[in-house]
Amino acid sequence: MTRSEQLFERAVKVLPGGVNSPVRAFRAVGGKPRFIVKGLGSHILDEDGLEYIDYVGSWGPMVLGHSHPDILKAVYDRMVNGLSFGAPTALEVEMAEKIVSMVPNIEMVRMVNSGTEAVMSALRLARGATGRDKIIKFEGCYHGHSDAMLVGAGSGALTQGEPDSKGVTKGAARDTLMAQYNDLASVECLLDANPGEVAAVIVEPVAANMGVVPPKDGFLQGLRNLCDKYGALLIFDEVITGFRLAAGGAQEYFGVRADLVTFGKIIGGGMPVGAYAGSRSLMEQVAPCGSVYQAGTLSGNPVAMAAGLAQLQILTDHPEIYTVMETSAQYLTNHLRMSAEKHGVNMRVNQVGSLLCPYFTDTPVDCFTAAKTSDTEKYAKYFNQMLLRGVYLAPSQFEAMFVSSAHTQKDLQFTAQAAEESLAVL
Ligand SMILES: *Cc1c(COP(=O)(O)O)cnc(C)c1O
Repeated sequence: MTRSEQLFERAVKVLPGGVNSPVRAFRAVGGKPRFIVKGLGSHILDEDGLEYIDYVGSWGPMVLGHSHPDILKAVYDRMVNGLSFGAPTALEVEMAEKIVSMVPNIEMVRMVNSGTEAVMSALRLARGATGRDKIIKFEGCYHGHSDAMLVGAGSGALTQGEPDSKGVTKGAARDTLMAQYNDLASVECLLDANPGEVAAVIVEPVAANMGVVPPKDGFLQGLRNLCDKYGALLIFDEVITGFRLAAGGAQEYFGVRADLVTFGKIIGGGMPVGAYAGSRSLMEQVAPCGSVYQAGTLSGNPVAMAAGLAQLQILTDHPEIYTVMETSAQYLTNHLRMSAEKHGVNMRVNQVGSLLCPYFTDTPVDCFTAAKTSDTEKYAKYFNQMLLRGVYLAPSQFEAMFVSSAHTQKDLQFTAQAAEESLAVL
């Protein structure tokens, strides 16, 4: 037995499924998860000394790769002064100022501890500010695991208004309405059918939890216009896209303005952090200024702020990182397409910025229904072939491949070669 297998055997006895988050289990691809001991740049090393080029990047946060020396130094320097106080620190002010300076259309920020918490709090604020109860979300978009958002969230079994998870009450799911991504008519239909009741439309500006599905031209602007017309707020869930598509996230990348924005992943530099942000008039409705309650014992934790700030600082100091990552993702996309064609594999590769996803289908993937046409067994085989060759992909078809600024030309060439060999034996 390998060390990873030994650890997994112990893990399943004390952790449900042997993991602390279901996406880490290898259930969708077969086999057992690898236990990781360390990461450096674009590479990770497992308990058995096997090295991989990593395209999961902790599911997004590691946009600069692992163990970036500036981030580690910021954490060390901060932690020697104590880990948490439950009282304000200067770093929280710096962090908020930094976010406001990078992201368009926001004036104030509230730090929380995860993307789930950021979304949950932004929805409460939207409901509080509008005095309305209902939320429109899109099928296949994931917004964390709060009750109201576990409806049509990613690859689970889907029925409109029915929770995806046991333990979510019908009441919690009832106020969540489901529209189709890239289909403005489906949104307007819901807004018409629920006049004066919809508090917000929440969307992943690039859907990155059903693989990678880019917004069609005019889709995001169309949502903006519909929200204005019906008096609903537009929430961009930028937990993946924030600081990844551009320093200012999707609002900058697509030139569309949202009322509230949620962040996570990159904003913590690898530490557990989330945030939600918006205009002063909206954000001042949050406690203690206003009557929308939201709190957190460890929110704005100084060590987490130090890590996140260091990462955001590097992204601001090196704007060329965005072009580099996009070029790398395009390189992989082109090579995947060429190899698929060469070996007669039906494949569609979607790519936006540093995010990409190969789907094993000949249907263009522009919504969740289309994403589901992918042959997930083929993906599982592809995944395992890639893993054998030392490339660590997401253990599920419905996840993005995350390119970081640490991926070198050599990594990319190696990956393209591994992909060609893997597709050849499918
Ligand atoms: C990961 C993710 C979340 C949830 O963030 P957690 O930190 O895992 O709670 C929310 N929204 C989107 C778009 C995500 O990708």
